[in-house]
Amino acid sequence: MKTPVLYIIIPCYNEKEVLPITSEKFLSKLNSLISEKLIDDKSRILFVNDGSKDSTWQIISDLAQKNEHFIGISQSRNRGHQNAVLAGLMEAKDVCDITISIDCDGQDDINAMDNMVKEYLKGADIVYGVRSSRKTDTFFKRFTAQSFYKLLNSLGAEVIYNHADYRLVSSKVLQHFADFKEINIFLRGMFPLVGFKSTITYYERFERIAGKSHYPLRKMLALAFDGITSLSTKPLSLIVGIGTFISSLSFIGVIWSIIQQITGKTIQGWSSTICIICFLGGIQLLSIGILGEYIGKIYMEVKQRPRYIISERTPNYKQTNTKGKQNGKTSKNK
Ligand code: UDP
Ligand code: MG
Repeated sequence: MKTPVLYIIIPCYNEKEVLPITSEKFLSKLNSLISEKLIDDKSRILFVNDGSKDSTWQIISDLAQKNEHFIGISQSRNRGHQNAVLAGLMEAKDVCDITISIDCDGQDDINAMDNMVKEYLKGADIVYGVRSSRKTDTFFKRFTAQSFYKLLNSLGAEVIYNHADYRLVSSKVLQHFADFKEINIFLRGMFPLVGFKSTITYYERFERIAGKSHYPLRKMLALAFDGITSLSTKPLSLIVGIGTFISSLSFIGVIWSIIQQITGKTIQGWSSTICIICFLGGIQLLSIGILGEYIGKIYMEVKQRPRYIISERTPNYKQTNTKGKQNGKTSKNK
């Protein structure tokens, strides 16, 4: 296999304090990977300026002028971390063999990159960076993060435990990932949907080198909510379950109120009122649940995700199947 061209994708939002320090670290990591012949000299560090309001873009432009290994793109406005990473990945997918996405604040251990590239060379197309511990997190962050992963998995979404967005992805995977056209994206839950051979590598997560986090509790909750609603329609199915349960209770309620009426334990008009309330309550919730089931299906349809992805074909496949266009997307053998 030829030495791969690596693009390191780094989203940056108002990072003027951090960039001058971490850009040097990224560059020396890239150079050491090149000198070890793990990656090609055409490899690049691609900064994605996510509509910063400070001098971040100026710093990126200066870095690009000083060293050809630094390149940058700038989004027209702030679109959030997930979109910034996506923009970088889509820009890189046709010009490199592998990408590694990483935050620019020095929190993720860059030394894990060696292992990621080695795993790729051994045959993995996705290498998920997984935090070895959450020592630097507060108890609250650790507890909420762990509950979130458990909740997502119980709702049927496949997410790698303790993996954020530090990950190696081959351009082969990215070509297929580009067919996931949805707008509400939650990258760490979407890559497992693409498939292909994947593995994990552990890394340590440190404190931020400088500046402050752009993920306050409000944004974290929004990301968690996005993750659940973009990957699962189970909350909608849950309404059907609740509806069925409430309807059964209502049925019992109707019978009970009639018995009360017959045994003369009620005042006039009470039983008929209770019957109507129980009946309508049950019917309404059940109907909303059924609507939810259809909305869930429409939701999955409008995403227009690929229905299947073919990862390999036998070498003689193209010669024997010359009739018409092949279905689905093909992937070159590595
Ligand atoms: N980031 C971004 N756009 C945003 C917010 C953050 O591109 O709207 C970048 C940020 O510059 C950093 C990464 O996303 O490289 C992670 O953000 P941050 O460190 O603030 O989040 P935390 O690590 O605290 O969760
Ligand atoms: Mg950070």
